[in-house]
Amino acid sequence: MEIDIAPQFGAELKDRFKPVNAWVSNGIAWLDDIQQFYRERSTIEKEYAGKLSALAKKYFEKKARKSSSLSVGDTPTVTPGSLESASMTTWGVQLTTLESRAAEHDQFAGQLIANLADPLKNLAARYEELRKYHVEYAGKLEKERDSTYGDLRKMKGKYDNVCQEVENRRKKIDGSFDHGKQKARNAFEQQQLEMRNVKNTYVITINVTNKQKAMYYHEYVPELLESLQDLSETRVAKLNSIWSLAAQIETQTLSRSMDYLKHLSSEIPRNNPLLDSMMFVRHNAGAWQDPADFQFEPSPVWLDDGNVATDDAAKVFLRNVLTKSKGQLGEYRRELDKKRREVENAKKIRQSIRDGKDKRDEVEVVRALFALQESMHEVERQKVTAEVEVSTITSVVGDVSIGASQHNFKSQTFKIPTNCDLCGERIWGLSAKGFDCRDCGYTCHSKCEMKVPADCPGEQTKEEKKKLKTERQDAAHAAHSVNGTPSDSQSELPRISRSDTINSMNTLSSGYSATAHRSISGGMSPTEENPPEKANKVAPPPVAARRNRIVAPPPAQYIKDDGGDLASSSGLPKSTEQKGKMLYAYQQNGEGELTVPEGRDVSVLEPDDGSGWIKIRAGSKEGLVPAAYVEILSLTPPPSNRPGSTYSASSVSLSGSISAPGKKKGPAVAPKRGAKKLKYVEALYDYKAQSDAEHSMAEGERFVLINMEAGDGWADVEKGGLVKSVPANYLQEI
Ligand SMILES: [Zn+2]
Ligand SMILES: [Zn+2]
Repeated sequence: MEIDIAPQFGAELKDRFKPVNAWVSNGIAWLDDIQQFYRERSTIEKEYAGKLSALAKKYFEKKARKSSSLSVGDTPTVTPGSLESASMTTWGVQLTTLESRAAEHDQFAGQLIANLADPLKNLAARYEELRKYHVEYAGKLEKERDSTYGDLRKMKGKYDNVCQEVENRRKKIDGSFDHGKQKARNAFEQQQLEMRNVKNTYVITINVTNKQKAMYYHEYVPELLESLQDLSETRVAKLNSIWSLAAQIETQTLSRSMDYLKHLSSEIPRNNPLLDSMMFVRHNAGAWQDPADFQFEPSPVWLDDGNVATDDAAKVFLRNVLTKSKGQLGEYRRELDKKRREVENAKKIRQSIRDGKDKRDEVEVVRALFALQESMHEVERQKVTAEVEVSTITSVVGDVSIGASQHNFKSQTFKIPTNCDLCGERIWGLSAKGFDCRDCGYTCHSKCEMKVPADCPGEQTKEEKKKLKTERQDAAHAAHSVNGTPSDSQSELPRISRSDTINSMNTLSSGYSATAHRSISGGMSPTEENPPEKANKVAPPPVAARRNRIVAPPPAQYIKDDGGDLASSSGLPKSTEQKGKMLYAYQQNGEGELTVPEGRDVSVLEPDDGSGWIKIRAGSKEGLVPAAYVEILSLTPPPSNRPGSTYSASSVSLSGSISAPGKKKGPAVAPKRGAKKLKYVEALYDYKAQSDAEHSMAEGERFVLINMEAGDGWADVEKGGLVKSVPANYLQEI
């Protein structure tokens, strides 16, 4: 770089060697600071490189551990090769990029030392060496100058001495006589000659010295100063080139890093989201088989087929179900269309958001979409259920809803006691919920609704309604008397259902309880009071092929034999549950207990074993309640016919307080029994094991019951520490 000023140390600083030397010396020493700076920078870069490299390594290892699972899932059906998913590959590029960046920093750290710090150190040493030459030379010049001055001083002394000698000789002339005087005069003359030579020498020396002095101050020292100036400027120029090199090295480092990142940026878009999905599908697609359809399974105690019963009573029920389901179907279809449109709209909004045309939050929209789809799904399930109900019924009995005169039922909670026109019983208290026909005034229990024939005579006057009521009540009661006393309910329809509706878990879309239905329309089924008791040495029921049985063993042969033999200790078959009713509300007080409201119908699962507690089921829940809180409903005709029933023990003293309304406080409760009791079963018949998976049984032999419903009519029991299967219908629970 050319500049106007051209400073010259020699011309402008004259003999100021010392300060100039000191300044130049400081400049050289400063180079040490700069090389130290590069060394420290190098340390930082090296450290950073190490950290980046360790980070890359750590995440390479993590990737290696998870790559397979992330690429092909945890349970691929095809053995995964060494391939990894596109996302894994793309992630690998990030890590490789990081590694390269780490290597760049490491290389940069090395260059800072090799190309900058070390050269600077060498330069500083060499410059310092040169500077010292200058110092030595300056000393030499100074010595020369002083020596010249010394010579002059000596010359002057010599001259003075010579002059003194001349004077001495002149004085000697004055003090001498005769021929001595001439001799002295000669000596004086001689001395004067000598004196003039010395004087001339002195004068010459003065001139020489002055010239040397001038040379020292105007030539030698300025030249030396200029050399020092040059040294300093050379140092600065060299420093500039080092700095430039430093900038260049760092720029190259950054530029290579930029290239890595550019490459990375170009790799990311290649990770098409479809690629991961494709890989996963390829490794997880397996042979698919629909789960087998459910088949009708006959009861272990009653042989039946899977055909829909179509007797008259069943048809009434089917007609009512069909009418309800058909009515709901239209509603479901309209509702489904509406929901579907809502879902489509939400999907469109989501697409608009993805296309950047809508500013709403996609997550919020997806959340809303989920809610809409869920509610659509609900309706769809209801629609499908109703459709299948309709098609099942019409395929068997045709569209019996056509021409039916359905009652215009309205749900009611009867505040004033009235009688059910179907069963004749009170609609009151715990079963106060029911229906009445807006047109003809027909009233019925909720549980009776679906059994009411579709024979509404249409709108009636008050008088006509009154008349109809009387007729209907007479008919209802006549049905009772025909069938004998209510307690002897061999085929009495309504009574049987009293405890079943609440416990039912299986309902049609119409809300009808299937459990209640079975005991009514299944006219062929044995009543609860007449279980297939063990006949006198009748052959046991046949046992079907294990697991694949289609037809249940026919217990009919046992029930053909007219009952009356209830005294038999074999008691009740498993399918018959002892029913009961809560006399008082019971609040759960400990583990295994159950909270049950007063009046609730319950099933007794385990009788009172003397602890004062019984195990019951109320709805879908099972648990213990105090035995004294439960009224055991008599199952059988006169107890005298049925001695030894373990169920009757706790009911005797309490019967009679059955339907007292109002809140009552239960009696004090005895401490609950401890450990859960084991269930036992007793073999009703001999059975010979057909395979290793089965136990042989002798009639009357007892086992610990593991599972009464192991599947396909088989039960799992334990004998001698081994759990094996036996036919469930050969067992009774004890
Ligand atoms: Zn009606
Ligand atoms: Zn009724």
